[in-house]
Amino acid sequence: MHEAHCEEPERGGRVTGSLWSRACLTLDDVRVLVVEDERRLAAAVKRGLEAEGFVVDLAHDGVTGLHLACGGGYDSVVLDIMLPGMSGYKVCQELRAAENWVPVLVLSAKDGEYDQADALDLGADDYLTKPFSYVVLAARLRALLRRGAAPRPAVLRCGDLSLDPSSREVHRGQAAISLTAREFALLEFLMRRAGSVVPKSELLAHVWDSSDDIADLNVVEVYVGYLRKKIDGPFARHAVQTVRGAGYRLAADGG
Ligand code: CA
Repeated sequence: MHEAHCEEPERGGRVTGSLWSRACLTLDDVRVLVVEDERRLAAAVKRGLEAEGFVVDLAHDGVTGLHLACGGGYDSVVLDIMLPGMSGYKVCQELRAAENWVPVLVLSAKDGEYDQADALDLGADDYLTKPFSYVVLAARLRALLRRGAAPRPAVLRCGDLSLDPSSREVHRGQAAISLTAREFALLEFLMRRAGSVVPKSELLAHVWDSSDDIADLNVVEVYVGYLRKKIDGPFARHAVQTVRGAGYRLAADGG
């Protein structure tokens, strides 16, 4: 089996090659389900993750993937989007509908028909655009595992603002608000962290594909502006607060 590197990093010393050392978990305990229909890619991902110390099972279609994921026992699921039988989005949606909160990392093709924001809307925890490196994939998985499975309430609320991730509806009081997929993903992220300051860089990393050349911090500002025009402006609120030099905070009272 794989050797577990769990030694204490040198104090104040170099960063070790493996983030895993810091998490200090037993590698044999970490099981990842990879749902990917391209068999060569699936096999390569399996080898890559196994080399990083994960225990990996494969599924090659959405239905099998959902069945295995629902069976439990996985610490994380790596999910392709375009799958035969059932799309990765549907798999993710079904998992969350069943109140299964296993961390899901979605793999999306750059030229795919879906936007990464859609994946987050449907309950995925992170995404990676193909092609990707196994080192990056492994690092993202470790980050997800450290966070653990986070239950997602059916409807997020912040003051009289509500957001339903499954129906994708947003309301301020009784008034329905129409948002684009990106605006929705941005608001959802802010709502999940309501009351806390969220750095722009974190919004960029989670709501945008940060490897995209056009995705810089300005785009976050632009979209926060769009969001304010929809959830605050018409209601004379100031819920999306700018915290100078730090980021944004969603205030429950709407300022
Ligand atoms: Ca595919």
